[in-house]
Parts: sequence; structure tokens; C-alpha cells
Amino acid sequence: MKSRIIPIIASLALCGLSATVAAEDKYVTIGTGGQTGVYYVVGQSICRLVNRDTAKTGIKCTAPSTGGSVANLNAIKAGDQNMGVAQSDQQYNAYHGEGAFKEQGPWQELRAVFGVHPEVFTVVARADSGIKSFDDLQGKRVNIGNPGSGQRATMDAVMAAKGWTSANFQLASELKAAEQAQALCDNKIDAMVYVVGHPSGSIQEASSSCDSIVVPVTGKEIDDLVAAHSYYAKASVKGGTYKGTDADVESFGVVATFVSSTASDEETIYQVVKAVFDNFGRFKKLHPAFENLQEANMLKDGLTAPLHDGAVKYYKEKGWM
Ligand code: GLU
Repeated sequence: MKSRIIPIIASLALCGLSATVAAEDKYVTIGTGGQTGVYYVVGQSICRLVNRDTAKTGIKCTAPSTGGSVANLNAIKAGDQNMGVAQSDQQYNAYHGEGAFKEQGPWQELRAVFGVHPEVFTVVARADSGIKSFDDLQGKRVNIGNPGSGQRATMDAVMAAKGWTSANFQLASELKAAEQAQALCDNKIDAMVYVVGHPSGSIQEASSSCDSIVVPVTGKEIDDLVAAHSYYAKASVKGGTYKGTDADVESFGVVATFVSSTASDEETIYQVVKAVFDNFGRFKKLHPAFENLQEANMLKDGLTAPLHDGAVKYYKEKGWM
């Protein structure tokens, strides 16, 4: 009999212990993008740094793949995600209730945490498609992106500026970011659109698995669009980044930003920000797109919504504001 009692007591003690730990654990989710994009690396990198301190902070972080910027903003708003990565133009639109967020109206609880890497509105075309400029996309099979992605929202803005609809294309597909490189190389589409940091795994796939080129995105409508919106700036894809594209290619771009909302408490965001900036050298090594990041710029670049209190607490502690 005795031998039975001991294991029961021991397992009760263990239950009690795990119940206490579970009560203190805080699970946080960061929305990213497709698995071959850079957002996925941003989210995974942040979580890796946050989870090094779980024993101390109780915060357990996961960063699943998602549909992208607009999907992340909507999921944070709905309470399905705590934080996420979003393009600066979509952060602006969500906060002010414009573009894809027009019907929802302004979202004043949205909070900026920091800006991350620059992203370029990047068009990649099959070399045999004859596409040499953005206007050449007309009459072609173009992946305009899945609804919920940042590239789709920005492409919608570009199409509106050009006076185009999907009828301007032979086919306007809505493939997800992670599917489009293969669709391009399988000759199911002539061109793909991706708003992404460089080098991107997806465009590397599209340029190494088949012959393709990065196409310039220029012209009066683009100049006007950039001039009209502070979240856009001229940008280029550096020559030599991808096979088939040796010279710099002009386009425009945004900044990837890390966002949350007032629903996340100050302590959680403080710990997440602290994990990133206390280990900044390590963070920058996790993707070549992070190489040129500088703390001072990350506190302001691409941010429209007010900074989250938890971020402000850390930045003040560091004397950065
Ligand atoms: N900019 C894209 C979006 O918002 C994602 C890019 C990436 O995953 O790196 O949907």
C-alpha cells in the first residue's frame, strides 16, 4: 500500500506546481506573412529572443505564418493575435480608416512598437513574357496577391492610381506570397507582385528556378502616388541581388513595422521590446534585410499610430526619447 501512496502524493505535488507555472505564463502571438517572406523571419526572430527569457518573464511567444499585413492588423483588432508585422501604408490606413480599412473606420487603439526593414514594391516577370515595364503588365497573367496581404493592398492603390481594374489583365490571380514563385516558374502566371524586404527567399526562388527579371515600377502616376503619401518613398532593388537582374531597378517602397494594440499590456510589450533591443546585434544577424537597422530610426520610421506605452517605457529607460 505504502508504495502506492508515494507516487500519488508526488504527482499531486507536480500538478500543483505546473498549475502555478501555467497561471503565470503569458502566451503571445505575432502575426507574420508567408513562410518564404521576411515577416516570418521577423516574427520568428523576435520570438526566439523573447523565449530565451521565458523562465524570468513567463512570456511564451509564437509567430505563425499568416496572410500578411492586412490580415495581421485585422487579427490584432479582433483579439486573435497580440502583435504583428504590417507595412507602414497599411498601419496608416488601419489607424485612419482608409484603403482596405475604410468600412471599419479609424482604429484608435492601434499602437506602433518599432519600424523594421524597408520593403520595395517588387514586380518579377518571366523573362519570356516580354514584360519590361509596369505598363507591360496589361493583358498579361499577373498575381495581384491574396486579399489580406500587404502587396494586394498596395497593388490595389497602384491600380487605382493607374485607373486600372483586374480587367486590365488577362488573368488577375490571388495566390498567396509563398505560392507565387512556383506559379511563375510553372508558367501559370507571367508576373508576380511582392512588397518585401530584400533579399527575399521567394524572389530568390523565382529567379533561380526559372529565367525571370525584376521589372521597374516608374512613371507619372507612381511619382504622384509617392508625392501624395508620406508612407511611400522612392526605393530600388539593388542590382546583383537576384540572378537575371544585374543593374539597380527603380520602384517605390514602404517600411515593415511591428505593431500591437492597447489590448496588450505595458509589461508584455516592454519585455518584447527589451528582448529585441537588449540583443540587437544578435537580432540584426538573423536576416540580411536587418543588416542596416539602426535603433534611432526604428523609433520613428514608418510609424503613424502612437507608440505603445510598453515601448515608450523601454525607449525612455534607454534615453532614446
Ligand atoms: N509585405 C508583405 C505583406 O504585408 C509581407 C512581406 C513578407 O512576408 O516579408 O503582406
